[in-house]
Amino acid sequence: MRVLVVEDDAAVAGGIVDGLTIANIESRLVATGADCLSALGAFAPDLILLDLGLPDMDGTDVCRAIRRENLTPIIVVSARSDEIDRVVVLEMGADDFVVKPFGMRELVARMRAVLRRTGAAEAAPPTAASQTKNFGPLSVDLRAQKVTVGNEEVYLTPKEFELLAYLSQDPGAVFRRSEILHTVWDTNWYGTTKTLDTHIASIRKKLGDPRWIESVRGVGFRFGVPA
Ligand code: CA
Repeated sequence: MRVLVVEDDAAVAGGIVDGLTIANIESRLVATGADCLSALGAFAPDLILLDLGLPDMDGTDVCRAIRRENLTPIIVVSARSDEIDRVVVLEMGADDFVVKPFGMRELVARMRAVLRRTGAAEAAPPTAASQTKNFGPLSVDLRAQKVTVGNEEVYLTPKEFELLAYLSQDPGAVFRRSEILHTVWDTNWYGTTKTLDTHIASIRKKLGDPRWIESVRGVGFRFGVPA
């Protein structure tokens, strides 16, 4: 595992890098958003630990810029703990959120969990036929993580894709909120279900019809082809 650590606070950065070294994880440290973006290609990290408060760019902008390049998993490491930041950060395409101060053991466990989740999709067997699911005009390619409606490609964030893939595995079935949060998000850091609603709203908008995902009041959500 190669990890890019983006952190401008030398003390925090030192602690993370030492902890990663102890855990036998190769890392490179950069202190600015610009250096983070230029290290993407050269260092080709498997995962990025991203501080939100950077001297040159806001962390959320860095997150967005990374997502324009590729799908490298991102764990946001921040001192800000309010809910709005979590929602914003996850919408920017980050995969998890760790609030300072945190223990290295916890951080490494989160990193492995994120890599397991994102790696599972990449390591899926290359039998293309079984990896693309079609629902009327909607097609979900699990291997390429690509979604199309009609012939138009729909650009979902990694989290939105995971959520759509999860709900569409069993059209018509109702998935409980707790079930969705547990599977698609790590519930151990999660305080409210607001992020789930935000993601559902965004997927509906991007698919162009809210009826793809039906809310089941007090229970959860159901995926289905709009009649
Ligand atoms: Ca900082």
